[in-house]
Amino acid sequence: MRIVLLGPPGVGKGTQGRRLAGDRGVALISTGEILRDAVARRTPLGVKAKETLEAGRLVSDDLIVALVRERTVEPDANRGFVLDGFPRTVPQADALDAMLAERSQGLDEVVLLMAPDDELVRRLSSRWECPVCRRVYNSISAPAKDGRHCDDHPEVELRQRDDDREETVRRRLEVYREQTAPLVQYYRRKGKLKEVTGTGPTDAVYVALKGAVAAKP
Ligand code: AMP
Repeated sequence: MRIVLLGPPGVGKGTQGRRLAGDRGVALISTGEILRDAVARRTPLGVKAKETLEAGRLVSDDLIVALVRERTVEPDANRGFVLDGFPRTVPQADALDAMLAERSQGLDEVVLLMAPDDELVRRLSSRWECPVCRRVYNSISAPAKDGRHCDDHPEVELRQRDDDREETVRRRLEVYREQTAPLVQYYRRKGKLKEVTGTGPTDAVYVALKGAVAAKP
């Protein structure tokens, strides 16, 4: 199963994608998470990408395509993957198509998750995550049990992403509209796009997402 989750920052691609990938036994590939890890570990990739991430802009297509090319052939992606945060531009989508075609593969589904901007800004500024397992909490709608530590790692303090500050969030939404939103038409024209509302209870969104993703034998 190979699926792309498309949608603006904060719509729930990571949360829903993690659950879907877990249920289907495929890899969740989040390009944002890979880049944030690289920044935290100060690898050459991280050093290159740090400023761009902090500014809420996109890293170069070449860099991200090379990263995805390598990540999608790792053993945990043998049975497939859910892509969260990639592709984000038309050239990235073309590169993904070409890459899969080389492997005689294709995408099964592209699912667009949607929510209004105000809701996205509100969600992102109350988003906290566990640095160990990446579980995402929301201090308003889905807080951790004690409000500060991960439920699954009680010794670990939750942290906020640097790019979740309001100003950077607005920039990320702008970048989404300019560079990523054209992918909606791109995949719609290919007859691949399914749309799911990303507002409401997380479980209800997941049910809708599962319904949108055709069960593959
Ligand atoms: P995300 O976690 O998906 O919101 O991504 C966080 C940041 O990582 C983005 O604001 C970009 O700076 C960078 N990033 C993640 N995925 C991509 C991509 N496919 N193309 C370019 N930049 C990306």
